[in-house]
Amino acid sequence: MEQLLKATDLAGVTRLLIMQPTAFCNVDCDYCYLPLRSDRRIMSHDTVAAATRFVFEASLQARDFTVVWHAGEPLVVPPSWYAEAFARVAAQAPLGVCVPHAIQTNGMLINDAWCDLFLAHNVRVGVSIDGPAFLHDARRRTRLGSGTHAAALKGLRLLKARGVPLHVICVITNASLGHARELMEFYRDEGITDIGFNIEEVEGANVSSTLARPGVIDDFRTFFETVLEESENADPNLRVREYRNVLAMLRHPGLGTMTANSQNMPFAMVTVSVGGELFTFSPELAGLSDENYNDYIVGRLPDATLESVLSDSTFQKLWGDIWQGITRCRESCAYFALCLGGAPVNKMSECGTFIATETLACKLAQQVVADVSLSRLERSLQVAVAP
Ligand code: SF4
Repeated sequence: MEQLLKATDLAGVTRLLIMQPTAFCNVDCDYCYLPLRSDRRIMSHDTVAAATRFVFEASLQARDFTVVWHAGEPLVVPPSWYAEAFARVAAQAPLGVCVPHAIQTNGMLINDAWCDLFLAHNVRVGVSIDGPAFLHDARRRTRLGSGTHAAALKGLRLLKARGVPLHVICVITNASLGHARELMEFYRDEGITDIGFNIEEVEGANVSSTLARPGVIDDFRTFFETVLEESENADPNLRVREYRNVLAMLRHPGLGTMTANSQNMPFAMVTVSVGGELFTFSPELAGLSDENYNDYIVGRLPDATLESVLSDSTFQKLWGDIWQGITRCRESCAYFALCLGGAPVNKMSECGTFIATETLACKLAQQVVADVSLSRLERSLQVAVAP
């Protein structure tokens, strides 16, 4: 049976409040999971305030609590909207608490006004750019089919020129696997120092992945080995999120005793969609449909409270099934101590149920990443102690 939850058990668990200012996106990437990316509605500032209040009234916020603006393209909403939104968030925060903001963008709309906003509010910016143009433009295109690399690169360069701190997110497709060196060379040449790799997942509107093919495990292993090798050759070293995450888990005082990760622990992430619908667990569940789980909606703002969500039948069914999936992972998988049971959205998208274990996503993003990272760490330790 799943762990029973009380509101008091959940104090301090929320690290990310993910807000969808709009579902609309100015790009039409063919691997995008978002089904509603033509929906032009914009979140009301009252919903922004209600979402923040939901977290703070229940003392859910963790010490590293951050508000993330994401999905569709957040910069189609103007900077003035964010100035007001940030003020509404700050107005809900407990006295003395400064809430950091982060934004994930395709970079195409960045101009000086955006840089001014990011610098004024210390916004952490993530730019989605899939390496050099021949890889990026193959999948990240406009609705008319044009490539978006040139505009994204222009935005990236302006952020760097203006001194806005940033990291890059790169989606790995089958086409990327043979080009690890070109990818890393591109990021090095652009002065990128922090990068995260997302794999092309079967999820939502993206009903198949080019990575779902025989032999992909070995090819991805070679790819990731080359990425780590190249990351160390860069000067300064290019920091790879996946490798850093493995190191962080190894150093964590709870290693071997932890029972859940940020995607399968209730309220570790809270997601609010444009109309004020409330979600927890994997943020990608927001916008997906499932009649068995009420489209994964666990509450509606401004009325929802932590207590109302905990007694909500959709939440209880979700948590019960996700917990069973975690339990199966813990009982069967040698990688559990590092992975902690995977991402519910991957299990549902690939297996049709949360009560599942292995997925293609976890084999690549968890198992291969762990194997390659641990091998690299072992080699570096051997070098360090060699006479
Ligand atoms: S690697 Fe896959 S099977 Fe193993 S714990 Fe993670 S999600 Fe479960």
